[in-house]
Amino acid sequence: MLHRLRQRQPADPVTHVERVPPRVGEPAPWPSWAPAELRAAYARRGVSTPWRHQAEAADLAYDRRHVVVATGTASGKSLAYQLPALATLLADPRATVLYLAPTKALAADQLRAVAALEVEGVRPACYDGDTSRAEREWIRRHSRFVLTNPDMLHHGILPGHAQWSGFLRRLAYVVVDECHVYRGVFGSHVAHVLRRLRRQCARYGRNNGPTFVLASATSGDPATAAGRLTGLPVSAVTEDTSPRAGVTFALWEPPLLPPDPSTDGSGEPGAGPELNQVRRSALRETADLLADTVATGVRTLAFVRSRRGAEVVAASARRSLDEAVPGLGDRVAAYRAGYLREERRELERALLHGDLLGLASTNALELGVDLIGLDAVVICGYPGTRASLWQQAGRAGRSGQEALAVLVARDDPLDTYLVHHPEAVFGAPVEATVLDPANAYVLGPQLACAAAEAPLTAADLKLFGDGAEEAVAALVEVGALRQRPTGWYWRHRERPEVDLRGEGGAPVCVVESATGRLLGTVDGGSAHFLLHPGAVYLHQGVSYVVDALDLDDGCALVHHEEPDWSTHARDVTSLSVVSVRSYVDAGPVGLFLGEVDVTSQVVSYQRRRIATGEVIDTRPLDLPARELRTVAVWFTLSPESLVGAGVEPADVPGALHAAEHAAIGLLPLVATCDRWDIGGLSTAVHPDTEAPTVFVYDGHPGGAGFAERAYGMAASWLRATRDAIAECGCEAGCPSCVQSPKCGNGNSPLSKPDAIRVLDAVLTNLPK
Ligand SMILES: [Zn+2]
Ligand SMILES: [Zn+2]
Repeated sequence: MLHRLRQRQPADPVTHVERVPPRVGEPAPWPSWAPAELRAAYARRGVSTPWRHQAEAADLAYDRRHVVVATGTASGKSLAYQLPALATLLADPRATVLYLAPTKALAADQLRAVAALEVEGVRPACYDGDTSRAEREWIRRHSRFVLTNPDMLHHGILPGHAQWSGFLRRLAYVVVDECHVYRGVFGSHVAHVLRRLRRQCARYGRNNGPTFVLASATSGDPATAAGRLTGLPVSAVTEDTSPRAGVTFALWEPPLLPPDPSTDGSGEPGAGPELNQVRRSALRETADLLADTVATGVRTLAFVRSRRGAEVVAASARRSLDEAVPGLGDRVAAYRAGYLREERRELERALLHGDLLGLASTNALELGVDLIGLDAVVICGYPGTRASLWQQAGRAGRSGQEALAVLVARDDPLDTYLVHHPEAVFGAPVEATVLDPANAYVLGPQLACAAAEAPLTAADLKLFGDGAEEAVAALVEVGALRQRPTGWYWRHRERPEVDLRGEGGAPVCVVESATGRLLGTVDGGSAHFLLHPGAVYLHQGVSYVVDALDLDDGCALVHHEEPDWSTHARDVTSLSVVSVRSYVDAGPVGLFLGEVDVTSQVVSYQRRRIATGEVIDTRPLDLPARELRTVAVWFTLSPESLVGAGVEPADVPGALHAAEHAAIGLLPLVATCDRWDIGGLSTAVHPDTEAPTVFVYDGHPGGAGFAERAYGMAASWLRATRDAIAECGCEAGCPSCVQSPKCGNGNSPLSKPDAIRVLDAVLTNLPK
């Protein structure tokens, strides 16, 4: 199949083919403690014996050791927690189990799986936002296997702990599924929700507390990440012994476009074309690959990073299929998180049954667990981590059949680096999940929640870890808590309002004015970028234009319109240093980690022709500025060292700016973040550092651990940045190296050769 796809191209776009061999499964005997009833139940479901990693994890969990099993997609992680949990429920008719999934859909899938085992007296049930009042009461009293999500635990179960006292007292296991999702700020919140859960279990008198069983996608050092998440010592099972189909994995770089004199990148900021597009876009390439595979009857899933992108890929593949065979386009659809649940499940069913042959999706996590065994997966743009890359690729492969996975590089420094460094994709260990429970912006609100649930004691503060004492003192200071001899008390009648999913606030609803129909939602943090007045918003390939964005009501009004342009919002940013946490003095070079205040405002948007990317115009916007106190990593160079490196004073701004863009682009290589999770700023002289400086900061209040990680890995991060720029085949800089799609300064000034000189100067001085 790969051969056919390559042939279509004038120049071979494949930079590397990795053959992932099929793996033979390694079965293990059932643990001796596994009751015959359960073995029989699994046998009825076609599982005659567990794989070795399942048995190992189950053994640890049954032995009441906290364990994380971190193996590939479809490796049977659920058996590893179901077996010890259900065996315990059978042995102790009072014991209970709490299962947490990051999405309601996943919890519903798991409910089906547990219910299918038909274990008597367990009465598994989902408890989430959709559960009726009457059902809730029944579940609290009778269910011994409750499936929910961290948000429900946070907003519903823990605040109502008294009603759950019986369940919590008897809680034997807490299962945390897909735990690698709990990263960054969200992960830090969930870490404290789990500590609050442990606290309530202890209050209701269970001696040793529940045993945690965590399931993770393959990730680096899962024991440490799971330990940070739960606050407990966790053992890890990481060797995947399940069988797997062979996969041909191709790295694909879209071809260079013929040179076009009108796009030389020298246009005036805001007027001419800013991104010097030299390659065919990854979206178009993905749409073509999807159309080609679907045309030959191959069931294909395309992963596209943005919701907008998924819509564009589906629409474009549909169009070319319809041109070839009218009606064939109907067998391709778009699928993304903003759609309503019923819509998404319907699309999945259609793909599984073959009514649909191609689906363009934004996020693997939103897909049902049953959606595996596809023939091909096309990944449009590196998904940010090797862990998610493998997770997405893992959707391909039916037993006995060879599957295809293709990673299509976007015009982006990280993607370019990766398709030319296959060892960084296939030879490197997957990343560790990064979270920071000590983030003061998470810890304070979480301690307020805990205090509202029950007064905090000195012993509790230990449970919440580093920074808890300071956070409580700060809450007393602002009048949220009152200190009494018996502990700290929440002073208000209402509970604190805390959103686990970050600062974005409530999602913004997208409503069609003419019909009042709710089209979908956009998270609050992205609303300024995606739903500003005039923005083009896509839903199921249908395009809408935003008439008004009401930030107070959390609602955007749109009307149906199909303009031939897309919109791209731009922001401006300023930054001041608040404090330095740590630094490395490397002579003429300084490397710092500290707190900064960032002010940014979405000020304008560009309209660009969809077909050519040509900029039509730039229009001003009137949106409020947003303040952010966060954590940044920054480096400084002495002006003399820049002269010594051969950078003319006049070129310093362009050199630093280019280095900043590329450094942001490469940060996901060392931290599990997304380019859009971080921001940057560079300047030839910054008032706070009094030197040429490049800042890279976490785009979340209080930081998310990414800048911290970059500081810790600075040498390898900046080395990869330097190599990515140096190895890019373009002449004067392009989106694959130093240009950034979210630059607030119109990608000007930028100097590619001077950026390499700057990074060389930093790397020679920085300790390894
Ligand atoms: Zn380039
Ligand atoms: Zn910039």
